[in-house]
Amino acid sequence: MPTPVGVYIGDELASYGFGEGHPFGPDRLGAFWQQAQAVGLDRQVIEFQPVSAGREALERFHTREYVERVIQQSASGEGYLDCGDTPAFPGIYESACYVVGSVLDAIERILNHECRHALVPIAGLHHARRDSAAGFCVFNDCGIAIETLRARHRLTRIAYVDIDAHHGDGVFYSFEADPELIFADLHEDGRYLYPGTGRAEETGRDAARGTKLNIPMPPEADDAQFHAAWERVEIFIEEHQPEFILFQCGADSIAGDPITHLRYTPAAHRHATQRLRVLADRYCEGRLLVMGGGGYNRSNLALAWTAVLEALLAD
Ligand SMILES: [Zn+2]
Repeated sequence: MPTPVGVYIGDELASYGFGEGHPFGPDRLGAFWQQAQAVGLDRQVIEFQPVSAGREALERFHTREYVERVIQQSASGEGYLDCGDTPAFPGIYESACYVVGSVLDAIERILNHECRHALVPIAGLHHARRDSAAGFCVFNDCGIAIETLRARHRLTRIAYVDIDAHHGDGVFYSFEADPELIFADLHEDGRYLYPGTGRAEETGRDAARGTKLNIPMPPEADDAQFHAAWERVEIFIEEHQPEFILFQCGADSIAGDPITHLRYTPAAHRHATQRLRVLADRYCEGRLLVMGGGGYNRSNLALAWTAVLEALLAD
C-alpha cells in the first residue's frame, strides 16, 4: 500500500494568478499537474477539490482592516495590494480564499487520518504580512495554518521549513518573538534578492531566540551547497521535536528560474521531502503538509513538485 497522499487540484486554485504572461500566472497548477499525470502520479494520490476559507479563518492571522481592503479592491479589480508587485484583479479575494481554504482543509484531513501527507501546489504565500500583501502574496496561508493549528487543534509546537529562493519574511517576522514556531529557511542571500531579509544572525527575538534558523545561500548555490546546509535544518528540527511540519517547497530555487539566481536541481526538493517525511514520522505521527510556493519557470516547477510528490508517495 502506498502512503495516502492528498493533492489539491481544481480551477479555483489555479485561478490564483496575475494574468497570462505574469511570472505568477494562472497556468502554474496545470503545468505541474500535466507532468504529474504524465508519470502516472494522479492514479496514486487522493485528489481533493479546492475549498474556500471564510473571513473568520483569514482573521486568525490578518487584520480585519486588511481583509476589508482586499475585498474592496477585489470588487474593483484596480490598483495594487502592495507597493507594486501584487496587482488586484477582479475576484482576487475569492481566489486567495481558495488557497487558504485548501490548506486548512488539508490540515483537517491529515488530522482526521484521511491522508498522511498533503500537497497544495498553489499555496505557501509566505511574503504576506498580517496587515498587507507583498511579493505576489495576498493572504499568508502559512501563517493562517499556524494560527489555525493552535486555535482549532491545540497543537502548539509547529515547524515551518522553507526552501523557496526567497526568504519567508511574512512568516518569520510574524512569529519572530514566538518561541513555539520552529522556523528554518534556506534562501538566496538577501543582498542579492527580494525581500532582502533573513540574515543568519536573525535567530528569533526575546524568548524565541534560537527557535529560528535562517541560512542565506550565495547566488549560484548548487545541490552540493544545498545538501550541506540542509543537514543543519535536520539537526535543528530534531532539537525542537515539533508536532506538525509545514513545508514550503518553492521551485524558484532551481537553476533557470527567471527571477532568482540559485542553481539547485529538483533532486534538492526530493531530498528535503524524503527527510522531512522521516522527521514527521518520528515526531509528528506523519503530519506533513507541503505548500508549493514560488517557481516561475514552468518546467522547473513541474519537475520539482512532481519530485516532491514522488517522495511523499514512496514506500
Ligand atoms: Zn520565491
